[in-house]
Amino acid sequence: MYTEVVNLTRKLINIPSISPKDFGCQEILIERLKACGFFIERINFNDTNNFWAWRGYGKTIIFVGHTDVVPAGNIIDWKTPPFLSTIKNGFLFGRGAADMKGSLSAMVVAVENFIKQNPNHNGRISFLITSDEESTGKNGTKKVVSFLKKRQEIIDYCLVGEPTSEKNLGDCIKTGRRGSLSVFLKIYGKQGHAAYPDLAVNPIHKSIPFLTELSTLSFDNGNNFFIPTKLQILKISSGKNYVTNMIPGDLSVSLNVRFSSLSKKKNIIQIINNLLKKYSIRHSIHWTCHAKPFFSSPNNFCNIITNSIYRFTNINPVIKTNGGTSDGRFMVGIANQIVEFGLLNSTIHQVNECINILDLFKLQNIYFNILNELFL
Ligand SMILES: [Zn+2]
Repeated sequence: MYTEVVNLTRKLINIPSISPKDFGCQEILIERLKACGFFIERINFNDTNNFWAWRGYGKTIIFVGHTDVVPAGNIIDWKTPPFLSTIKNGFLFGRGAADMKGSLSAMVVAVENFIKQNPNHNGRISFLITSDEESTGKNGTKKVVSFLKKRQEIIDYCLVGEPTSEKNLGDCIKTGRRGSLSVFLKIYGKQGHAAYPDLAVNPIHKSIPFLTELSTLSFDNGNNFFIPTKLQILKISSGKNYVTNMIPGDLSVSLNVRFSSLSKKKNIIQIINNLLKKYSIRHSIHWTCHAKPFFSSPNNFCNIITNSIYRFTNINPVIKTNGGTSDGRFMVGIANQIVEFGLLNSTIHQVNECINILDLFKLQNIYFNILNELFL
Protein backbone atom coordinates (compact mmCIF):
# COMPACT_ATOMS: atom_id res chain seq x y z
CA MET A 1 0.00 0.00 0.00
CA TYR A 2 2.90 2.34 0.72
CA THR A 3 4.18 2.19 -2.83
CA GLU A 4 0.95 3.93 -3.95
CA VAL A 5 1.93 7.28 -2.49
CA VAL A 6 5.52 7.06 -3.75
CA ASN A 7 4.38 6.14 -7.26
CA LEU A 8 1.91 8.99 -7.42
CA THR A 9 4.49 11.49 -6.14
CA ARG A 10 6.99 10.29 -8.76
CA LYS A 11 4.44 10.55 -11.53
CA LEU A 12 3.76 14.17 -10.59
CA ILE A 13 7.44 15.11 -10.20
CA ASN A 14 8.13 13.77 -13.71
CA ILE A 15 5.81 16.44 -15.12
CA PRO A 16 7.70 19.78 -15.31
CA SER A 17 4.74 21.89 -14.20
CA ILE A 18 6.59 25.16 -13.76
CA SER A 19 4.19 27.78 -12.42
CA PRO A 20 1.52 28.52 -13.61
CA LYS A 21 1.57 25.51 -15.94
CA ASP A 22 -0.07 22.29 -14.83
CA PHE A 23 0.75 20.08 -17.83
CA GLY A 24 -1.69 17.34 -16.81
CA CYS A 25 -0.85 16.90 -13.12
CA GLN A 26 -4.39 17.80 -12.12
CA GLU A 27 -5.93 15.34 -14.57
CA ILE A 28 -4.03 12.55 -12.81
CA LEU A 29 -5.49 13.62 -9.47
CA ILE A 30 -8.94 14.16 -10.97
CA GLU A 31 -9.04 10.64 -12.44
CA ARG A 32 -8.22 9.12 -9.07
CA LEU A 33 -10.76 11.21 -7.20
CA LYS A 34 -13.43 10.52 -9.81
CA ALA A 35 -12.78 6.79 -9.41
CA CYS A 36 -13.70 7.04 -5.74
CA GLY A 37 -16.86 9.02 -6.30
CA PHE A 38 -15.86 12.69 -6.23
CA PHE A 39 -17.76 15.35 -8.14
CA ILE A 40 -15.26 17.43 -10.07
CA GLU A 41 -15.46 21.02 -11.26
CA ARG A 42 -12.61 22.41 -13.31
CA ILE A 43 -12.44 26.15 -12.67
CA ASN A 44 -9.72 27.42 -15.00
CA PHE A 45 -8.76 31.06 -15.48
CA ASN A 46 -6.42 32.06 -18.33
CA ASP A 47 -3.18 30.09 -18.04
CA THR A 48 -4.09 28.62 -14.64
CA ASN A 49 -5.75 25.27 -13.99
CA ASN A 50 -7.81 24.83 -10.85
CA PHE A 51 -10.27 22.26 -9.67
CA TRP A 52 -12.74 21.83 -6.86
CA ALA A 53 -13.81 18.31 -5.96
CA TRP A 54 -16.18 17.02 -3.29
CA ARG A 55 -17.77 13.86 -1.97
CA GLY A 56 -20.33 13.36 0.82
CA TYR A 57 -22.54 15.75 2.75
CA GLY A 58 -22.40 17.77 5.95
CA LYS A 59 -19.40 19.18 7.80
CA THR A 60 -16.70 19.84 5.25
CA ILE A 61 -12.95 19.39 5.21
CA ILE A 62 -11.03 20.92 2.33
CA PHE A 63 -7.55 19.86 1.27
CA VAL A 64 -5.79 22.81 -0.34
CA GLY A 65 -2.73 22.46 -2.55
CA HIS A 66 -0.91 23.35 -5.75
CA THR A 67 0.48 21.35 -8.67
CA ASP A 68 2.84 24.08 -9.92
CA VAL A 69 6.50 24.22 -8.94
CA VAL A 70 9.29 26.79 -9.13
CA PRO A 71 11.93 26.35 -11.88
CA ALA A 72 14.87 23.99 -11.29
CA GLY A 73 17.33 26.85 -10.86
CA ASN A 74 20.97 26.03 -11.42
CA ILE A 75 20.71 22.67 -13.25
CA ILE A 76 24.45 21.95 -12.96
CA ASP A 77 24.15 21.83 -9.18
CA TRP A 78 21.44 19.14 -9.24
CA LYS A 79 22.80 15.66 -8.49
CA THR A 80 19.76 14.08 -10.16
CA PRO A 81 17.61 15.42 -13.04
CA PRO A 82 15.12 17.81 -11.39
CA PHE A 83 12.14 16.56 -13.40
CA LEU A 84 12.96 12.86 -13.24
CA SER A 85 12.13 11.58 -9.78
CA THR A 86 15.00 9.59 -8.31
CA ILE A 87 15.18 7.47 -5.17
CA LYS A 88 18.49 7.43 -3.31
CA ASN A 89 19.18 6.22 0.23
CA GLY A 90 15.56 6.40 1.27
CA PHE A 91 15.05 9.88 -0.14
CA LEU A 92 12.98 10.90 -3.14
CA PHE A 93 14.60 13.68 -5.17
CA GLY A 94 12.98 16.01 -7.69
CA ARG A 95 11.55 19.49 -8.07
CA GLY A 96 8.27 19.68 -6.17
CA ALA A 97 8.89 16.61 -3.99
CA ALA A 98 8.45 18.70 -0.82
CA ASP A 99 6.61 21.72 -2.28
CA MET A 100 4.18 20.09 -2.70
CA LYS A 101 3.66 17.06 -4.91
CA GLY A 102 4.49 14.66 -2.08
CA SER A 103 1.83 16.22 0.09
CA LEU A 104 -0.76 16.20 -2.73
CA SER A 105 -0.12 12.48 -3.22
CA ALA A 106 -0.39 11.81 0.52
CA MET A 107 -3.76 13.63 0.57
CA VAL A 108 -5.17 11.71 -2.40
CA VAL A 109 -3.98 8.28 -1.22
CA ALA A 110 -5.18 8.95 2.34
CA VAL A 111 -8.60 9.91 1.00
CA GLU A 112 -8.74 6.84 -1.28
CA ASN A 113 -7.95 4.55 1.65
CA PHE A 114 -10.42 6.27 3.91
CA ILE A 115 -13.23 5.92 1.35
CA LYS A 116 -12.35 2.29 0.70
CA GLN A 117 -12.82 1.59 4.40
CA ASN A 118 -15.74 3.98 4.92
CA PRO A 119 -17.69 4.30 1.67
CA ASN A 120 -20.62 5.87 3.56
CA HIS A 121 -18.55 8.25 5.65
CA ASN A 122 -20.00 11.19 7.55
CA GLY A 123 -19.19 14.70 6.35
CA ARG A 124 -17.93 16.05 3.08
CA ILE A 125 -14.37 15.69 1.82
CA SER A 126 -13.25 18.30 -0.69
CA PHE A 127 -10.18 19.49 -2.60
CA LEU A 128 -9.15 22.85 -4.00
CA ILE A 129 -6.10 22.46 -6.19
CA THR A 130 -4.47 25.23 -8.23
CA SER A 131 -1.56 25.52 -10.65
CA ASP A 132 -0.68 29.05 -9.61
CA GLU A 133 0.58 29.30 -6.08
CA GLU A 134 4.22 29.94 -6.91
CA SER A 135 3.83 32.86 -9.35
CA THR A 136 1.30 35.69 -9.16
CA GLY A 137 -1.54 33.61 -7.68
CA LYS A 138 -4.07 35.91 -9.26
CA ASN A 139 -5.89 33.20 -11.21
CA GLY A 140 -5.60 30.51 -8.57
CA THR A 141 -7.05 29.84 -5.14
CA LYS A 142 -8.12 33.46 -4.70
CA LYS A 143 -10.49 33.38 -7.70
CA VAL A 144 -11.79 29.88 -7.00
CA VAL A 145 -12.61 30.90 -3.42
CA SER A 146 -14.56 33.95 -4.58
CA PHE A 147 -16.43 31.67 -7.02
CA LEU A 148 -17.24 29.25 -4.18
CA LYS A 149 -18.21 32.10 -1.86
CA LYS A 150 -20.78 33.31 -4.38
CA ARG A 151 -22.28 29.85 -4.25
CA GLN A 152 -22.31 30.13 -0.45
CA GLU A 153 -20.12 27.10 0.10
CA ILE A 154 -19.11 26.72 3.74
CA ILE A 155 -15.92 24.97 4.77
CA ASP A 156 -15.51 23.86 8.37
CA TYR A 157 -11.94 22.59 8.32
CA CYS A 158 -9.22 23.72 5.93
CA LEU A 159 -5.98 21.77 5.69
CA VAL A 160 -3.30 23.38 3.52
CA GLY A 161 -0.59 20.85 2.65
CA GLU A 162 2.32 23.28 2.37
CA PRO A 163 5.64 22.02 3.75
CA THR A 164 5.58 23.43 7.28
CA SER A 165 7.86 20.94 9.06
CA GLU A 166 11.33 22.23 9.89
CA LYS A 167 13.75 19.60 11.24
CA ASN A 168 11.40 16.64 11.73
CA LEU A 169 8.05 15.80 10.22
CA GLY A 170 5.36 17.33 12.39
CA ASP A 171 7.54 19.65 14.46
CA CYS A 172 5.74 22.72 13.12
CA ILE A 173 2.26 23.55 11.84
CA LYS A 174 0.90 26.96 10.90
CA THR A 175 -2.41 28.57 11.69
CA GLY A 176 -1.62 31.95 10.20
CA ARG A 177 0.87 33.91 8.17
CA ARG A 178 2.26 37.40 8.19
CA GLY A 179 1.22 39.99 5.64
CA SER A 180 3.60 41.54 3.13
CA LEU A 181 3.77 45.24 2.24
CA SER A 182 6.22 46.51 -0.38
CA VAL A 183 7.28 50.13 -0.44
CA PHE A 184 9.01 52.01 -3.23
CA LEU A 185 10.38 55.33 -2.04
CA LYS A 186 12.03 58.07 -4.08
CA ILE A 187 13.89 60.74 -2.12
CA TYR A 188 14.60 64.04 -3.86
CA GLY A 189 17.61 66.32 -3.41
CA LYS A 190 19.16 68.78 -5.83
CA GLN A 191 21.71 67.68 -8.39
CA GLY A 192 24.97 69.59 -8.43
CA HIS A 193 28.77 69.66 -8.72
CA ALA A 194 30.62 67.63 -6.07
CA ALA A 195 33.00 70.57 -5.63
CA TYR A 196 30.11 72.95 -4.91
CA PRO A 197 27.97 71.07 -2.36
CA ASP A 198 26.50 74.31 -1.02
CA LEU A 199 24.67 74.71 -4.33
CA ALA A 200 23.20 71.18 -4.22
CA VAL A 201 21.19 69.01 -1.83
CA ASN A 202 22.74 65.57 -1.52
CA PRO A 203 19.86 63.05 -1.19
CA ILE A 204 22.25 60.35 0.04
CA HIS A 205 23.58 62.43 2.92
CA LYS A 206 20.08 63.58 3.74
CA SER A 207 18.76 60.01 3.80
CA ILE A 208 21.36 58.36 6.02
CA PRO A 209 19.93 59.33 9.43
CA PHE A 210 16.40 58.68 8.14
CA LEU A 211 17.32 55.21 6.79
CA THR A 212 19.14 54.34 10.00
CA GLU A 213 16.06 55.05 12.07
CA LEU A 214 13.81 53.41 9.47
CA SER A 215 15.78 50.17 9.74
CA THR A 216 15.21 50.01 13.50
CA LEU A 217 11.51 50.99 13.52
CA SER A 218 9.27 48.98 15.80
CA PHE A 219 5.63 48.40 14.84
CA ASP A 220 4.46 45.87 17.41
CA ASN A 221 5.95 43.44 19.94
CA GLY A 222 4.54 40.24 18.49
CA ASN A 223 2.70 37.67 20.61
CA ASN A 224 2.74 33.93 21.27
CA PHE A 225 2.07 33.19 17.62
CA PHE A 226 3.61 36.09 15.69
CA ILE A 227 7.14 37.45 15.85
CA PRO A 228 7.24 41.29 15.86
CA THR A 229 6.56 43.01 12.53
CA LYS A 230 9.83 43.66 10.70
CA LEU A 231 10.93 46.05 7.99
CA GLN A 232 13.78 45.24 5.64
CA ILE A 233 15.52 47.64 3.23
CA LEU A 234 16.01 45.66 0.02
CA LYS A 235 17.63 48.08 -2.39
CA ILE A 236 19.16 51.56 -2.40
CA SER A 237 20.24 53.18 -5.63
CA SER A 238 21.37 56.61 -6.68
CA GLY A 239 23.87 58.39 -8.91
CA LYS A 240 23.31 56.72 -12.25
CA ASN A 241 25.87 58.97 -13.97
CA TYR A 242 29.31 57.46 -14.43
CA VAL A 243 31.13 60.61 -13.43
CA THR A 244 33.03 61.38 -10.27
CA ASN A 245 31.98 64.97 -9.77
CA MET A 246 28.19 64.93 -9.62
CA ILE A 247 25.92 64.96 -6.60
CA PRO A 248 22.87 62.94 -7.66
CA GLY A 249 19.42 64.49 -7.73
CA ASP A 250 17.55 61.60 -6.16
CA LEU A 251 17.77 58.29 -4.33
CA SER A 252 15.50 55.25 -4.70
CA VAL A 253 14.82 52.85 -1.85
CA SER A 254 12.85 49.59 -1.87
CA LEU A 255 11.51 48.17 1.37
CA ASN A 256 9.43 45.22 2.44
CA VAL A 257 7.47 44.93 5.67
CA ARG A 258 6.37 41.50 6.94
CA PHE A 259 3.59 42.32 9.37
CA SER A 260 1.69 40.39 11.97
CA SER A 261 -2.03 40.62 12.61
CA LEU A 262 -1.15 42.97 15.48
CA SER A 263 -0.28 45.73 13.01
CA LYS A 264 -2.66 47.22 10.49
CA LYS A 265 -1.42 48.28 7.07
CA LYS A 266 -2.61 51.84 7.64
CA ASN A 267 -0.68 52.11 10.93
CA ILE A 268 2.52 50.92 9.26
CA ILE A 269 2.05 53.50 6.52
CA GLN A 270 1.46 56.20 9.13
CA ILE A 271 4.59 55.31 11.11
CA ILE A 272 6.75 55.46 7.96
CA ASN A 273 5.12 58.72 6.84
CA ASN A 274 5.73 60.27 10.27
CA LEU A 275 9.41 59.39 10.03
CA LEU A 276 9.65 60.97 6.58
CA LYS A 277 8.12 64.10 8.07
CA LYS A 278 10.46 64.06 11.08
CA TYR A 279 13.50 64.21 8.77
CA SER A 280 11.81 66.60 6.29
CA ILE A 281 12.43 64.19 3.46
CA ARG A 282 11.12 65.42 0.09
CA HIS A 283 9.80 62.28 -1.52
CA SER A 284 7.27 60.30 -3.52
CA ILE A 285 6.15 56.90 -2.32
CA HIS A 286 4.30 53.88 -3.66
CA TRP A 287 2.77 51.12 -1.49
CA THR A 288 1.80 47.60 -2.62
CA CYS A 289 0.15 45.22 -0.18
CA HIS A 290 0.78 41.68 -1.51
CA ALA A 291 -0.92 39.90 1.35
CA LYS A 292 -2.80 40.74 4.51
CA PRO A 293 -1.88 38.73 7.60
CA PHE A 294 -4.27 36.03 8.76
CA PHE A 295 -4.63 34.05 11.92
CA SER A 296 -6.97 31.18 12.73
CA SER A 297 -7.13 30.56 16.49
CA PRO A 298 -6.02 27.02 17.30
CA ASN A 299 -9.10 24.98 18.22
CA ASN A 300 -10.57 21.48 17.89
CA PHE A 301 -9.42 20.91 14.30
CA CYS A 302 -5.94 22.02 15.28
CA ASN A 303 -6.09 19.58 18.23
CA ILE A 304 -7.07 16.71 15.95
CA ILE A 305 -4.10 17.48 13.69
CA THR A 306 -1.74 17.84 16.64
CA ASN A 307 -2.89 14.52 18.12
CA SER A 308 -2.65 12.76 14.76
CA ILE A 309 0.89 14.07 14.31
CA TYR A 310 1.85 12.89 17.78
CA ARG A 311 0.41 9.45 17.12
CA PHE A 312 2.69 8.83 14.13
CA THR A 313 5.78 10.86 15.04
CA ASN A 314 5.85 11.19 18.85
CA ILE A 315 6.26 14.89 18.28
CA ASN A 316 4.11 17.71 19.62
CA PRO A 317 4.07 20.36 16.90
CA VAL A 318 4.81 24.01 17.61
CA ILE A 319 2.25 26.40 16.14
CA LYS A 320 3.88 29.15 14.09
CA THR A 321 3.04 31.86 11.56
CA ASN A 322 6.50 32.36 10.04
CA GLY A 323 7.66 31.95 6.45
CA GLY A 324 6.38 33.58 3.28
CA THR A 325 2.78 34.06 2.31
CA SER A 326 0.60 31.05 1.44
CA ASP A 327 -2.76 30.32 -0.14
CA GLY A 328 -4.10 29.91 3.41
CA ARG A 329 -4.78 33.66 3.36
CA PHE A 330 -7.39 33.26 0.62
CA MET A 331 -9.33 30.73 2.71
CA VAL A 332 -10.18 33.35 5.33
CA GLY A 333 -13.89 34.12 5.11
CA ILE A 334 -14.85 30.76 3.60
CA ALA A 335 -13.14 28.35 6.02
CA ASN A 336 -13.75 28.45 9.76
CA GLN A 337 -10.51 26.80 10.83
CA ILE A 338 -7.31 26.89 8.80
CA VAL A 339 -4.23 24.78 9.51
CA GLU A 340 -1.18 24.24 7.31
CA PHE A 341 0.74 21.03 7.71
CA GLY A 342 3.05 19.17 5.36
CA LEU A 343 6.55 17.80 4.74
CA LEU A 344 9.93 19.32 5.62
CA ASN A 345 10.67 22.71 4.11
CA SER A 346 14.47 22.47 4.41
CA THR A 347 15.05 21.94 0.64
CA ILE A 348 12.09 23.73 -0.94
CA HIS A 349 12.89 25.97 -3.93
CA GLN A 350 16.53 24.77 -3.66
CA VAL A 351 18.58 22.52 -5.91
CA ASN A 352 18.32 18.83 -4.92
CA GLU A 353 14.85 19.25 -3.39
CA CYS A 354 14.03 15.98 -1.66
CA ILE A 355 11.87 14.22 0.91
CA ASN A 356 12.39 11.30 3.21
CA ILE A 357 10.18 8.47 1.90
CA LEU A 358 9.32 7.43 5.46
CA ASP A 359 8.01 10.94 6.09
CA LEU A 360 5.79 10.62 3.04
CA PHE A 361 4.24 7.42 4.45
CA LYS A 362 3.80 9.03 7.83
CA LEU A 363 2.17 12.10 6.28
CA GLN A 364 -0.30 9.86 4.43
CA ASN A 365 -1.12 8.11 7.71
CA ILE A 366 -1.55 11.40 9.54
CA TYR A 367 -3.93 12.76 6.86
CA PHE A 368 -5.83 9.44 7.02
CA ASN A 369 -6.04 9.66 10.80
CA ILE A 370 -7.39 13.23 10.60
CA LEU A 371 -10.24 11.96 8.37
CA ASN A 372 -10.90 9.13 10.79
CA GLU A 373 -11.11 11.52 13.73
CA LEU A 374 -13.42 13.89 11.89
CA PHE A 375 -15.74 11.67 9.92
CA LEU A 376 -15.75 8.07 11.18
ZN1 LIG B 1 4.04 25.43 -1.95
